Amino acid sequence: MDEIITAESMTAELLREAIPELTDEQARRFIIYYDELIERNRSVNLTRITSPAEVAQKHFADSLLGMAMIPQGARVIDVGTGAGFPGIPLAIMRPDMELTLVDSLGKRVRFLEEVTEKLGIRARCIHARAEDAARNDALRAHFDIALTRAVAPMNVLLELTVPFLKVGGRSLMYKAGGVEAETEACSNAVKVLSCSLTVAGFEVPWGARTVVSAEKLAKTPSAYPRRAGTAQKKPL
Ligand code: SAM
Repeated sequence: MDEIITAESMTAELLREAIPELTDEQARRFIIYYDELIERNRSVNLTRITSPAEVAQKHFADSLLGMAMIPQGARVIDVGTGAGFPGIPLAIMRPDMELTLVDSLGKRVRFLEEVTEKLGIRARCIHARAEDAARNDALRAHFDIALTRAVAPMNVLLELTVPFLKVGGRSLMYKAGGVEAETEACSNAVKVLSCSLTVAGFEVPWGARTVVSAEKLAKTPSAYPRRAGTAQKKPL
């Protein structure tokens, strides 16, 4: 007999346990996003987290932790967004944002193009390495906010994100718990790239979370980011 595979469904109730303030329309769009994510995850590696409750918490609600730090109408770039985290949940809640999603993996970018279209989100999806995209005049020094989650250590993230920011813009780096060792290790990157760090801690029922904000204080020297792969091999 064939094995019967049953999949649990995402529901508005499960979503509201993680994100109480959701409107019916926002819940409807998160359910579409969940269904598309799980369906495409059968053929393209998008996420290890698949149960509705865990996706609602660790992908959707966690993505929203930095929302209050994003000014109205901000130009936002999500670097290494993967399946769209944290950029797409933020755009569902904040349609005022002008969103650009960047990832170096083509199959993930095709998923992003399709899912943003289905969700009615205005987003530019770019298939590129951050190091190359930041050399494009249309993207360099163009954004108010850069987002990253689970992409690299902070000394690498600063080099990958700060060149995209206008002076006065902020790089929001989403991290799991403590960030002391990482913040210490990025003191040189902070100096070279002229940033000022602020750390915001959050306690959610499923764990401790941190969003580190790096404000860009001066124009980025033209040497940065260095060639693709260099920031990771020889962090500032
Ligand atoms: N941000 C998503 C999340 O939190 O679920 C995805 C995290 S995944 C572990 C890291 C993603 O960053 C991958 O999709 C990978 O292709 C992308 N990535 C890594 N280095 C990159 C780079 N230099 N430029 C663009 N994308 C990069």
